[in-house]
This record gives sequence, structure tokens and C-alpha cells, in this order.
Amino acid sequence: MGNLQRMKRVLKCLFFVPITLCVIYLISPFVKLVMDFIPMEKCILESAKMLNLDSSVDASLNLQSRPDVQTCTYWKAAIIWEGMFDPRLYDDMHKSKGSSVALTVFAVGRYLDAYLHKFLNSSEQHFMVGLPVTYYVFTDMPEMLPDIKLSPLRSLKVIKVKKNSRWQDVSMTRMKSISDVIESDIRHHCTYVFCFDVDQVFTGRFGSEALGDSVALLHAHYYHLPKHLYTYDRNPNSKAYMETGDFYYHAAVFGGSWKSVKALTEACYQGIMEDKQNNVEALWHDESHLNKYMLLHKPSRVLSPEYCWDTNIGYRSDIQVTRLLWAPKHYETLRTP
Ligand code: UDP
Ligand code: MN
Repeated sequence: MGNLQRMKRVLKCLFFVPITLCVIYLISPFVKLVMDFIPMEKCILESAKMLNLDSSVDASLNLQSRPDVQTCTYWKAAIIWEGMFDPRLYDDMHKSKGSSVALTVFAVGRYLDAYLHKFLNSSEQHFMVGLPVTYYVFTDMPEMLPDIKLSPLRSLKVIKVKKNSRWQDVSMTRMKSISDVIESDIRHHCTYVFCFDVDQVFTGRFGSEALGDSVALLHAHYYHLPKHLYTYDRNPNSKAYMETGDFYYHAAVFGGSWKSVKALTEACYQGIMEDKQNNVEALWHDESHLNKYMLLHKPSRVLSPEYCWDTNIGYRSDIQVTRLLWAPKHYETLRTP
């Protein structure tokens, strides 16, 4: 290449790169705003009595109170949004039934120092207030656990786990650890189990309206997107492979009765191990396997993205409250071995 040509190329780059960056910068808020106008499908049930009920109180859900969003799935599971439910009815029902909840959370390596304190403190303020809650904290450094003052009816158990060197393995082996502790402990003490990522903070009621036999969460970044943009695992060699599905669920929050969560975590772990034997890894690790499982075993209850919102998305008219927020992610410092 001659010097002149090379010079022309460099000048072209100098000219086009800033322009491209400007265009991306200018249209990204616009793209976000437009997403708000892509409507969700709508619930076609006339009354909540027609839902497949997780409990009798579900018949009191007001499916029509939120015409702006989808309030039930085609398999008649409720999708829970602010304005649809009376929190007192759920709290009273679960108190009188004697429901209790296990919360599992992993804080391995630097995630402990970065997130656990805020996560647990905020959970004390907002998660299943009024019900007995047992925290199951999985960590490689039990001695470093923050000192948290727990309310009455609430307790904390620590489970020591090995630190995998790859963050993907830390994330994926959670499935095995959860299923083990359900078998050894949770099933004898708790009705429900909820499993959380630690890099989040509760900011509003995350209450008993979220309890059900099998509970999945709509991913905040995908609930307005057309299905072909969902990032399912598309590798036919993976056990998580799926062509299409119902929703894109977020693995940062899932739950249900101890029996359902045990079945889910066991199946996902099995899929993950089979993939390892075949030298494949699903695109989004445990989340891809969770999505596959939920396609084959429909959740009985779906949580709206209020239950795990990312403020980076910006304003959305259908998010009237935020109950749990993504904490800032500092992957560069947290994920390095
Ligand atoms: N995790 C951990 N230590 C690690 C990597 C992951 O404790 O080194 C746990 C932690 O609970 C975290 C979850 O696994 O929230 C999932 O990982 P991450 O939050 O980084 O995944 P992302 O939110 O990006 O999907
Ligand atoms: Mn996370």
C-alpha cells in the first residue's frame, strides 16, 4: 500500500469513528424510549378465577388493573405487577398457613465484601417481612461474614463452599449446592425457597405475593423485546439448546416450593455436567439451563421486572415500583482470580 493510500485510510478512520460514536450515543436513549412502546402480549382471561391458582388468594388478583402490561401467561399463570394484588391478603394467608421461606445467596471471593452486607441489610427491610425467613449464605470465607442484626423470626446459616477459579463455574455450581442444602436442611424447615444473586439491593416490598409453587422472573432487558432477540442457547450440542420459548427469564431470582426448586436445581446441574462432558458451555451458563427448564416445566407464577430492575434502562412507564435493583457490576475487579 502506498503512503498516500495509508494516509487516506487513517484520515477516513479519524473522520468516521467519532461520527459513529456520536450516532450510537445519540440514538441509544431513543432506542430505549422506543422499547417502551413495543407492547407486551395481553392476558386474555376475564377473571383471575380462571387462573391456575397457586393459592385461593390468587382469585382476588385484578388482571385488568394493568392494561399496559401482560398479567397472565397463556398457560394461565399470573404475572405479578404493582396494582394487581392486595398485599395484606397474601400476608394474612401465608401467616395463617405457617409459610416459611429460605433465601439462598452466594458470596464467593470478592463478591462477599462488595455486596453481601447491603444485600442482607436491605433484605431485612423488604424481603418477606412478617414471615419466618432463614438465610442460607454460601461462601468460601465464613469468617469474613458481615455482622447483620436480624429481626425476630429470621435467622442465618452459613455454608462453606470451595472457590472455583472461573466465575462461570461459581455461578453454575450454585445449582448443585442449592439442591444439596434443600435435601439436607431446607426441606425440614421451610415451605418455600428463593434463590438470589448477591449483586442486588432490595428497595421495596418483595413480599408473600411472590410465593408460589414454581416462580420465574422476567428479565428487565428483554420483557419488551420480540422473541427472536431473546438470547437463548442456540448450540444444538448443549442441553440448554432451545429454538424459541415463552419469555426470557433472569436467573438472578428464582424460587418456589422446596420440592420444585430441588427438581429445577437438580435438572439444571445435570444439564451443566452433561455439557461439561461434551466440552460445551451454554451461552449464559446456569441462566440458559434455567430457561430451558422453564420451557419444559412452566412456572406457576411469573414475577414482573419490578422484582429485579436495572436502573440503567432508564424510565419505563410500566415500572411503577422497584423492589430489587441491580447493584453496579465491577466485573474487572471482582471476577479476576
Ligand atoms: N458469584 C460469587 N462469586 C463469583 C462469581 C459469582 O459469589 O466470583 C455469585 C454471586 O452471588 C453472583 C452470582 O454468583 O451474584 C452470579 O454472578 P454475577 O452476578 O457476576 O452474574 P451476572 O449478574 O453478571 O449474570
Ligand atoms: Mn448478578
